[in-house]
Amino acid sequence: MDVLLASPRGFCAGVDMAIECLNETIRCVGPKIFVYHEIVHNRIVVDHFKDQGVTFVDSVEEVPHGSTLVFSAHGVSPVVRDAARARRLRVIDATCPLVAKVHLEVIRYAREGYTILLIGHNGHDEIVGTMGESPDSVILVESPADVDQLPYDVSHKLAYLTQTTLSLDEANSVIEKLRQRYPNIESPAKEDICYATTNRQEAISTILKSADLLIVIGSQNSSNSRRLLEKGLAQGVPGHLVDGVGDLQPQWFENVKRVVMTAGASAPESAVTECIQYLKQHFNASVLDAILREENVQFPLPRELQMLRSRTPAPAANSSR
Ligand code: SF4
Repeated sequence: MDVLLASPRGFCAGVDMAIECLNETIRCVGPKIFVYHEIVHNRIVVDHFKDQGVTFVDSVEEVPHGSTLVFSAHGVSPVVRDAARARRLRVIDATCPLVAKVHLEVIRYAREGYTILLIGHNGHDEIVGTMGESPDSVILVESPADVDQLPYDVSHKLAYLTQTTLSLDEANSVIEKLRQRYPNIESPAKEDICYATTNRQEAISTILKSADLLIVIGSQNSSNSRRLLEKGLAQGVPGHLVDGVGDLQPQWFENVKRVVMTAGASAPESAVTECIQYLKQHFNASVLDAILREENVQFPLPRELQMLRSRTPAPAANSSR
C-alpha cells in the first residue's frame, strides 16, 4: 500500500499561536485558567490542556471574578468581551488575526450602511463571534439556495464576507450566485478564506485523483477538516475523519492500494505520525511525500500576553554538566 502524505497539512499559524498563547499563559499565571470555547477544535489538544488543569467554558458567567480567561482562536463577539470586562477578568485574546480581519470588515461595512451577507456555517464559533460584531447588519448565507431567498432588490447596499475555513468550491458557488443576482455587491479586496484552508484543500486536490481512500486527521467539529473530507467525497474518493490512530479500523484498508492522508489545521502532527506507523506495521505501507508548497506564516502572541510575559521571570535554564 502507498500512502501519499499531503503537505501542507496540520497546524496553521493561527493554531500554533493559540496553543503557544495558552502554554505561555499557564507558564505566567499557572494552570488554573479558563478558556472560552475550545482553544482550537481538536480533542487531543483540548484534552492535553484539560489534563494540566485548564477549564474550558461556554459562558463567561462560569468564570470566577478576577480570573484569567483566554479567548479561543475562533474569536468572540463584543457581548462576550463586555461580559468578561464586567467580571473584571484578565483576558488573553488568542483570536487568529485572520478571523479578527473579518470582524474588522464587518464593522467597516456596517458603519458604511451595508447589509453584510456572511457566507458560512450556522452555529460555528467563528460565525457566532463574527455576526456578533453587528447583529442587525449581518445575514448568514449557507448555500446557493439561500441566495434565492434573500429579500433585497438589486439596488440594496450589499457586501459579502466569508468564514475563513470554507470549502473553496462551495464558497465560489455561493459567490457566483450572489454576483449573478447582485452585480454591484461589494467584497474585500482580499479573500477571507484563509491561506491554510486554501493550501490544505489544494494539496489533496490533484493526488486524490489516483487514490482509493482518504484519511483526514482532525476532530469532528473542525470545520476545515470536514471540508477536506467533503473534497474527497466530491471527487468520488471515500474517506474517514479521525482524531488519531485509535479510530482507524483495519477493514477500511482491505484491498486499498493508495491512501491519501492529510490533517486539518488544528490536528497535531503526532496524530499523523501514529497513523502512519499503524499503516506501516499492519499494511506494510510505503509513505510518499506529496508537497504542494511550503508555508512560512507566523503570528505574534497577543500584546496583553507579551506584557504579562515581560513581567514574569523566564524559567531557569537547565544546567548540564
Ligand atoms: S485555519 Fe486559518 S483562520 Fe483558522 S486559525 Fe488557522 S490560519 Fe487562522
